Amino acid sequence: MTSRDGFQWTPQNGLKQGVPSLGVISPSAKITSDTPWDVIVVGGGYSGLTATRDLCVAGLKVLLIEARDRIGGRSWSSNIEGYPFEMGGTWVHWHQANVWREISRYQMGDEVEPSFDFSRGVNYFELRTDQYATTMSHEEEDTLLATALEKFVNVDGDMGRIVIPFPYSAFHNPDARKYDEMSVLDRLNIISQSLTPNERTALESFILLCSCGTLETTSFFEFLHWWALCGYSYRGCMDCLISFKFKGGQSSFAIKFFNEALSSGNLSYAFNSPVKSIRDEDKEVTVTTRDGRSFTASRLVSTIPLNVLSDITFNPPLDPIRTTATQTGHVNQCVKVHAEILNKDMRSWTGISYPFNKLTYAIGDGTTPAGNTHIVCFGGNHNHIHPEEDINATKAAVESMAPGNIDIQRLVFHNWSKDEFAKGAWFFSSPGFISSSLDALRKRHGNILFANSDWAIGWRSFIDGAIEEGTRAALTVKEDLRSISTPLRSH
Ligand code: FAD
Repeated sequence: MTSRDGFQWTPQNGLKQGVPSLGVISPSAKITSDTPWDVIVVGGGYSGLTATRDLCVAGLKVLLIEARDRIGGRSWSSNIEGYPFEMGGTWVHWHQANVWREISRYQMGDEVEPSFDFSRGVNYFELRTDQYATTMSHEEEDTLLATALEKFVNVDGDMGRIVIPFPYSAFHNPDARKYDEMSVLDRLNIISQSLTPNERTALESFILLCSCGTLETTSFFEFLHWWALCGYSYRGCMDCLISFKFKGGQSSFAIKFFNEALSSGNLSYAFNSPVKSIRDEDKEVTVTTRDGRSFTASRLVSTIPLNVLSDITFNPPLDPIRTTATQTGHVNQCVKVHAEILNKDMRSWTGISYPFNKLTYAIGDGTTPAGNTHIVCFGGNHNHIHPEEDINATKAAVESMAPGNIDIQRLVFHNWSKDEFAKGAWFFSSPGFISSSLDALRKRHGNILFANSDWAIGWRSFIDGAIEEGTRAALTVKEDLRSISTPLRSH
């Protein structure tokens, strides 16, 4: 099935909108007659899929409402000629307890494979700046980044362990709050004398790969939080953030959640159904879609992401702190572009082109069925493009990552910045945001629960955080409804 989402460019067919995906649901609606439902879940990303599955399996009648034609939200893959291109969330790791619990549940441990292959080919790292270009071995690349990152995060003489001793308790050490008031630029200014030019370039591009904001808009605390989650080490960052992905793509994982919910017999669903408003009354919640349909349930789980939550009308209105937070949003405007290229030797290549290029960081990520190399490139808000608006500029940005070695056969991408149901990629906060907003974003609003990776406690902004949040919301709803002696639907 082909989704409306995503773009593909080939020399033969030019630029086309819409790509095939295992995550497209057909038929797009299945609504049973036993209304009102126990629970409505808005959004079919990993937060919504987890909540839906857990509630259905617990015997509750659930209606899942999703704006798109597919599941997965910001994590989905396009299967093109039998090869998965990850349009959004990609990498998973066994240090991410929630996601690995689900991988075990669906017996998909053997479906996870490494992204990197440094066994053959060019086998080097290419660093390109405004002034010069150089190549080095992957061992030298690791040393460069590890040295630079350690200078950056070592605020306490123990690589951040004293400032963030418990990554699941953000401000356990109250000193951590001061780092949330700082941008990464503030921190770079403090250590700038200790960095070599190569270290500075590699460090800035790595930080911007994580936040896809700008140096001014990226919270230093949030970066430290990622670092702590990854075991306070560069190696941990590489392993947890960018090393292991599904052989069949993210949609092959997401569909397991959906199918389990469906097989319970308790799931109704409506895709292609953007929600416009949510009204909470004493005993029930009513949601109205843009096309005027209304649905009612005892509880509602909203998994609508931070950057689009302010597009929904809530009655009664959301509290002032949450309203301000939704208007501020997060800063991540990642541009992720896949390229299928002829040069087989580029499978073992990695590169940084910064700050001049519109794409900054890229790696060899696979070999396609045609025997070509698949590279994945990342850019962000510091030098932003909308890849479909000028495909020649996008191709030029990909080619500038390694001039002379990139002969593009295919481009595949999703423009997350222009996506009206995301307005950005994974969560990354600006200075002060976590201190001022995290607690408010996690609160319930009457009969409405809010679940999204954007305000997870642990792997916030990761698939793991989405599953953490969906689990939390489902548990709360189950406790709520258990305490009501007569469920609403049997009235
Ligand atoms: P979402 O996936 O955003 O789900 C919310 C759902 O709500 C969506 O399906 C949306 O369509 C729906 N919705 C929105 N508005 C409405 C409306 N009005 N009516 C009805 N439905 C609506 N994470 C990792 O762990 N590893 C990675 O490698 C990684 N890389 C990433 C790369 C990119 C380019 C992106 C974009 C994300 C990446 N992430 C990664 C982050 C990860 O994808 C997200 O954190 C996670 O998927 C969020 O899940 P969620 O369910 O909380 O939110």
